[in-house]
Amino acid sequence: RRILGIDTSCDDTGVGIVELAPGGRVRVLANRIWSQTVHAQYGGVMPELASREHVERIDDILQDALREAGLELADLHAVAATSGPGLVGALLVGLMYGKGLAQALGVPFYSAHHLEGHIFAAASEANLQTPYLALVVSGGHTHLFDVPAPGSYELVGATKDDAAGEAFDKIARLAGLGYPGGPAISAAALRGDPHSVPFKEPLQGQKGFDFSFSGLKTAALLAHRAGATPENLAASFQQAAVKFLVKTTVRAAEHLGRRTVVVSGGVAANAALREAFGKTGLNVVFPGKGLNTDNGAMIALAGAAALQKNREPSPLTVGAEAYVPLANTSKTG
Ligand code: ATP
Ligand code: FE
Repeated sequence: RRILGIDTSCDDTGVGIVELAPGGRVRVLANRIWSQTVHAQYGGVMPELASREHVERIDDILQDALREAGLELADLHAVAATSGPGLVGALLVGLMYGKGLAQALGVPFYSAHHLEGHIFAAASEANLQTPYLALVVSGGHTHLFDVPAPGSYELVGATKDDAAGEAFDKIARLAGLGYPGGPAISAAALRGDPHSVPFKEPLQGQKGFDFSFSGLKTAALLAHRAGATPENLAASFQQAAVKFLVKTTVRAAEHLGRRTVVVSGGVAANAALREAFGKTGLNVVFPGKGLNTDNGAMIALAGAAALQKNREPSPLTVGAEAYVPLANTSKTG
């Protein structure tokens, strides 16, 4: 069975298609993303412009995805779309489009939680079984969940201030490295000395598993003013952030007795983070290519999980929600 997934939660118009085999294995057939460029001139995402761009692009992106998969609309068995969290106006475009499409095709519609999509982006292709730990490191979240059973998410820790991706973006802007900051920092770090700028480990000695990036951000600002080069700043910040993320996650895994960890969201694309997690001895699973940052395939994977478990389709009255916690809510998968 083939499932279409749509994500329009922020400034990327994503449409993906996955195939669900009878045994539950999934395969990504298409993953098309239109990353909006209109926001660059404003230095941040303009919600109203984001919605308008989604409206203008979604038809084309859907056609691109169908072409990539070699399918027609009639070949689809279910449609999934993100209902939150995200920008309400942006979410509404993909959500309404998905509902309309499902109804026109006479197939089930599933609304999906954006963060569950990020987690499925890694977990599904690896065919992971629960229990596992899931670290979502993206532009808006740095959240650590324990996933003891399918569809059950317990919040273990979260950032007290900025998200990891947000810190990458802000420090990149400070160092004049451009946007989005993650890939820019990662590239500049290759040419810098990670030991040149001292960063204090955040929340040292905490008993819990929370995250914080405001201290690193302030330290970066001071180092920048003191003349640290963009490359040295990038290398040192990246090393400090990676070390902190890995250490906290490993402590949580030991505390909960988990051997498998899913790391997903845009920052999971970071090569240094992947390398460091690779050395922990844990079974660490990352999203495949093109599945780290926002995309439609991850939402199709959430829809596939729902279909696989014979979940009730979502009512067509389901609305978009700006803030909706993943823990203790009803889920697709
Ligand atoms: P959320 O999912 O929390 O709503 P979002 O959807 O905006 O936020 P994603 O698209 O998952 O976030 O990720 C975008 C973030 O990932 C940006 O902050 C970007 O800088 C960061 N990022 C992308 N590539 C890398 C990389 N190679 N290294 C570090 N960070 C990266
Ligand atoms: Fe995201």
